[in-house]
Amino acid sequence: MKLLEYEAKQIFSEEGIRVPRGVLVGRDDSLPPVTDTIGDSVVVKAQVDVGGRGKAGGVLMADAGTLGETARNLLSAEIKGVPVLKVLIEERLPIEHEYYVSITIDRSKKETVILFADTGGVDIEETARTNPDAIRSVGICPLLPDIPGFLQRELCGSAPAEVRDAVNRLYHVFCAKDALLAEINPLVTTPQGVYAADAKLIIDDNSLARQGITVNRDLTEREKEAEKHGFSYVELDGTIGVIGNGAGLTMATLDLIDHFRGRAANFLDVGGGADQERVCHAVRLVAGMPAVEVVIVNLLGGITRCDEVARGIIAADIPQPVIVRMAGTNEEEGKRLLAERGYRMLGSMDEAVRAAVEATE
Ligand code: GDP
Ligand code: MN
Repeated sequence: MKLLEYEAKQIFSEEGIRVPRGVLVGRDDSLPPVTDTIGDSVVVKAQVDVGGRGKAGGVLMADAGTLGETARNLLSAEIKGVPVLKVLIEERLPIEHEYYVSITIDRSKKETVILFADTGGVDIEETARTNPDAIRSVGICPLLPDIPGFLQRELCGSAPAEVRDAVNRLYHVFCAKDALLAEINPLVTTPQGVYAADAKLIIDDNSLARQGITVNRDLTEREKEAEKHGFSYVELDGTIGVIGNGAGLTMATLDLIDHFRGRAANFLDVGGGADQERVCHAVRLVAGMPAVEVVIVNLLGGITRCDEVARGIIAADIPQPVIVRMAGTNEEEGKRLLAERGYRMLGSMDEAVRAAVEATE
């Protein structure tokens, strides 16, 4: 789950990373008297999760005279189509230099990777493209409690010790919060010290419970519904709805769809022992995606009974065609029920997937 800047800054600050003084203001809040606490010269920042926010007009400079209007305007605006519900009003830092630091996971190397550049700020993507060598990177075993000194020096080069210290603290946050991404761009030096001028933190969805987060805000309505029923469900952007039992069989179905050059609309594993009601919910959930043109149900009956599955498919009664491949417990009864209603069944996974792909061509 992605945290917003002000939430990430709160967490960074608890780990001893200095962040600018600021106040959060929502659409319905009245503007607090900020000049006494954070000064005359401020930055007003839209709390939206979009890349390139500053360039898109989501980071505005203001002073005592213009703050009211600036904040009101930003709070009624959209940044790249995302409505601004909250703004963070912060002291404007007298920035001397902007660094870039980002910690993430390199899945192919199976290690944590830390990126650092002396030229941080809004043009970092441009730097990555035109001068990739300017971004240094080191891999680190995530079991290490700190970034070893020699790696800190390799990564940060001649940046001040306080910058290295902030990078190490960010690494603590990354580990402690089960993060997939922890980033500060820019990490800035000022006459008063080093500050995180911006903050990004993405928590691994599998760790939300451990992190005390009860609601995953990033889920779509359908994903929330799936979670309620205990389905493993991921939305994709294709046209073939997929229901399987067991993660392996469902993944194999997705692979086969890809192999036959179709595009899956989702991954949905109903789990073992799914009864009629569960199957019915699953079929309706998948069919509810506007892009879905056909649904493939691929089930192996073990503890799951094929007749229950068939009843679930029939009860769901969706408008799109359903292609079924089922085998195992009570297979004959399941097939009889579906045949009665004219459902299309195919004996092998290959044939079933090919038929589904053809139905979307
Ligand atoms: P982003 O576009 O979402 O990455 O927004 P940032 O929070 O990184 O802000 C974009 C840019 O605005 C930064 O790279 C800085 O150059 C500038 N900026 C942000 N906060 C301050 C500040 O307190 N003082 C000054 N002088 N510039 C700031
Ligand atoms: Mn930034």
